[in-house]
Amino acid sequence: MIPAEIPNLIGGEARPAAGGAWLDKHRPADGTLLCRVAGSGPEDVDAAVAAARAAQPAWAAQTVVARGDLLRELALALRERREEASAIVAEETGKPLELALGETDAAVEMGLFVAGEGRRFYGRTTSASTPHRTVLTMRHPVGVAGLIVSFNTPLPNVAWKAFPALLCGNAAVLKPSEEAPASAWLFGELAREVGLAPGLLNVVHGAGPEAGAALVEHEGVDLVSFTGSAATGRIVNERAGARLAKVCLELGGKNALVVCDDADLESAVRRSVASAFSNAGQRCAAASRLVVFDSIADAFRERLLAEARALEPQPVISEAALQRILRQLDGAVARGASIACGGVRLDRPGFHLAPTIVEGVGPEDDLSCTELFGPVATLSTVRGLDEAIALVNDSPYGLTAAVHTASLHRALRFAEEVEVGVVVVNAGTHGSEPHMGFGGVKQSGTGWKEAGVEALDVYSDVRWVNLVADPSLT
Ligand code: NAD
Repeated sequence: MIPAEIPNLIGGEARPAAGGAWLDKHRPADGTLLCRVAGSGPEDVDAAVAAARAAQPAWAAQTVVARGDLLRELALALRERREEASAIVAEETGKPLELALGETDAAVEMGLFVAGEGRRFYGRTTSASTPHRTVLTMRHPVGVAGLIVSFNTPLPNVAWKAFPALLCGNAAVLKPSEEAPASAWLFGELAREVGLAPGLLNVVHGAGPEAGAALVEHEGVDLVSFTGSAATGRIVNERAGARLAKVCLELGGKNALVVCDDADLESAVRRSVASAFSNAGQRCAAASRLVVFDSIADAFRERLLAEARALEPQPVISEAALQRILRQLDGAVARGASIACGGVRLDRPGFHLAPTIVEGVGPEDDLSCTELFGPVATLSTVRGLDEAIALVNDSPYGLTAAVHTASLHRALRFAEEVEVGVVVVNAGTHGSEPHMGFGGVKQSGTGWKEAGVEALDVYSDVRWVNLVADPSLT
């Protein structure tokens, strides 16, 4: 099902990297070799950008409704191949099939939502200070969009960018994660099968500092839309910024979930465990900081540890990721933290770390400030809501935050005062639905929202038009 060698898709053709390089991709579940993936470089990016530039004008000339109609076919083709796509995702990421099926459904939903946006494609009309003048907006494509994504939920990550980029009349060059190449390969194949013209969606595989960097720096790429870590995002922003390209960054989080003394304890524990450990904690919205009121801390801790220990561990994406997380845990322990559960590599093949809860970590400690992107959460206690909100905000990140409380007053105060892009009350820290804008503040992003109507603003330029129908009147 997954080819032994995953080629690029450039101008509608499957091609190996021009330099002939291949990168090994291993299965997280058992560490065995899954496939080899094209190790592309600047030459491949050049070819993909040229194909995109050639294809884009004819695509932009179609109505946005027609573009949406074809993108709906792509979403439906993915739905048709739901089982196959999910099996690919499960194999390349090591996540349970059930989770992968949910992600495929989410990617399909994004496609269907975006297709419908072709029949809305919102603009504005407004007033003017002079008489007889009509003012309105028009959306225009940006041109060629360079789309760079993370491995963690590979199909939604691709869908969140490719569907709106294409709907808005752009052509795209997608650089998937080298850790999740196969689902992106399938997406490209489906685009070809439904009749997306060659060159409109190119897929260039390879290592970030080679294929990714070449895409970011390419003068023919008008917009760079990136989902990944803050560290890489900083590099992408600098390089794309140097040539004043439009840049949208969706970055990491160090999301806090706060449990107040009036919370439904059972629900709060269940949501904490799911938020911290689902997808092995490899979610930008993962709750990696659990914060509980002193007065209920013992009861919460006891249940939390019991549930965390009972979890079936999922692997992290690679040996390198596992080693990085273990090093960060060792560092925290050396600085005085204690491991309440987990903290060790499991004695089984693959890249498994037991779900881990760390205590005794101060807000300034590296473990509180650095996104681990693994099954690790810190547990800390606070005296009340003021201290909890201060702790939530004492972070370089600002993606999501959750509070569990029965008090409307506390919930609203929390929503008002925490510095994040998404607030959740009495549920887990989670991502977005297709019709809801998603994005963070501080080091979690550059302020753009992806998904929702807001995605249209990322992938189109808004032109203001002043109309005076009869000049003799003015
Ligand atoms: P990463 O930053 O290592 O890589 C992301 C992508 O960037 C990959 O495709 C990679 O090949 C590429 N890349 C690496 N170096 C590059 C360079 N110099 N130039 C251009 N591209 C380069 O991140 P990751 O480990 O794949 O993903 C995890 C991160 O993604 C976490 O921080 C997570 O929070 C974040 N994330 C954010 C969101 C969101 O919507 N905010 C969603 C999913 C994941």
